[in-house]
Amino acid sequence: MALQYLGLRNLGLRKTSLIDFPGKLAAVVFTHGCPLRCPYCHNPELVNGPLPESFLPAAEVLAFLRKRAKLLGGVVVSGGEPLLHTDLPQLITEIGAMGLNVKVDTSGALPQPLAEILRLQAITYVAMDIKTAPGRYPELGVEWAPVAESMELLRASGKAYEFRTTCAPGLVEPADLAAIETVIQPGERWKRLIRANSGAVRLCGH
Ligand code: SF4
Repeated sequence: MALQYLGLRNLGLRKTSLIDFPGKLAAVVFTHGCPLRCPYCHNPELVNGPLPESFLPAAEVLAFLRKRAKLLGGVVVSGGEPLLHTDLPQLITEIGAMGLNVKVDTSGALPQPLAEILRLQAITYVAMDIKTAPGRYPELGVEWAPVAESMELLRASGKAYEFRTTCAPGLVEPADLAAIETVIQPGERWKRLIRANSGAVRLCGH
C-alpha cells in the first residue's frame, strides 16, 4: 500500500522496549504534537515545537520495523498524541501488514479518531492516560467529556486496554486520585506511575 503521510512524515523511534507493550518485546514509534499542556511535560518540543532532531523519515522507520518484524512482538505508537494525525490509521495498517500487533498510547482527548483506530485489526492494546481528577481537566487545556467518551469506547471495543495515571505533584494529589478512582470500573487495569524527576522515563513524559 502506498502511504501518503500528512502529519506522520517523520517519526521518533526507540528500537526496543521491554516495558511499553505488556508481554511483548516492542519498538516504540513517537509522533509529534499534543493537544494537552501537562505542567510536567519534559518534551515541550514534542508538543508544539518544530520536529525534534532525533526524528527520522517515516519510510526509514517503517523499513527498520519491517527488517525486525520477526524479532519484535509488537509496535507501540506513542506521542505526543498519535490520534492528532489523520494518517494514523494508514500507519497502523502498514505496521499490521508486517504481522506485528500495535498498541497505541493516548490521552483520550480525541474520541472520534480513537473510534476509528479501534476498528483496525492490528490494534490489540490501548493505554489511555487519566491525567488528573475529571474536574481539573480544563487546567490541561481540554475538557473531561471527550476523555469520558474515550473510556466508554475502550470498554465497548473488545480490545485489551489499561488506564494509567502519572502521580505528578500539584496535578495529582490524594483527593484527585480518589476522584479518578470513581470513574474506574471494578476489574479495570489502572496503573499509577510515580513521576521521576529525571524526566528519563519516556520521550513524551506522559
Ligand atoms: S506529557 Fe504527554 S500528554 Fe502531556 S503535554 Fe507532554 S506529550 Fe502531551
